Amino acid sequence: MPRIFCIANQKGGVGKTTTTVNLAAGLARIGQRVLVVDLDPQGNASTGSGVDKRTLELSVYDVLLEQAGIAEARRRSEQGGYDVLAANRELAGAEVELVGLEHRNTRLRQALATVAADYDFVLIDCPPSLSLLTLNGLCSAHGVIVPMQCEYFALEGLTDLVNTIKQVHANLNRDLQIIGLLRVMFDPRITLQQQVSEQLKAHFKNKVFNTVIPRNVRLAEAPSYGQAGVVFDPSSRGAQAYIAFAQEMAERIGTMR
Ligand code: ADP
Ligand code: MG
Repeated sequence: MPRIFCIANQKGGVGKTTTTVNLAAGLARIGQRVLVVDLDPQGNASTGSGVDKRTLELSVYDVLLEQAGIAEARRRSEQGGYDVLAANRELAGAEVELVGLEHRNTRLRQALATVAADYDFVLIDCPPSLSLLTLNGLCSAHGVIVPMQCEYFALEGLTDLVNTIKQVHANLNRDLQIIGLLRVMFDPRITLQQQVSEQLKAHFKNKVFNTVIPRNVRLAEAPSYGQAGVVFDPSSRGAQAYIAFAQEMAERIGTMR
């Protein structure tokens, strides 16, 4: 059975997609079989994995609407060494179309069960909202990885997410827990970032990952080549940090089981 994780934070631009594709490529490098599920209509995780959104015949949209299974809809990120259930703009419509349907929260979960034997990890890249799409992610997952920038409002923004996770845990998915908070785009020269980082550790303790992802331009350049930074420039500081993070995740999961 794979371990299934949502990469979630209702804020946009905080590094969810970058974390998803780099963790996927980092885990693939250490021999793990990985599926990335792109749950964001922007499709950045798809593009950033080298999957062309415009030529998609089947996507996560068809899977959510039960028009296709994951086995037929998934694509391969050849360079990343992992599979992708890709998304495009069509997915924005799923939000509305799902509302009236049965089992609308658990469609992804049911679909993932059919490919469980194929993967060690499933990483779900969530959209920047606490929407029905995110809910499908949270109902499918064992845990949530929360990437965050160490900014002034960081802690405040976490409250909504933590409450949503608690509600899903109580009502829909008893397996769900916060795996950890990942500090991303970190710049140690900025005193405020250091202070917020200390606050995070004081408040969330061992739920804060040891690995810290630095701000690194190579990570930002990689998506335009359809690659994770870990593939595009493995020796860059950003890629090295994500490789260390993949190792940390694999170790944490080893102890969780
Ligand atoms: P989200 O998925 O939460 O919206 P992204 O992963 O797309 O966030 O990141 C937002 C922007 O920041 C992107 O342009 C991305 O390339 C860039 N970025 C993400 N992480 C880093 C980093 N560690 N260093 C530099 N740029 C980064
Ligand atoms: Mg994103």
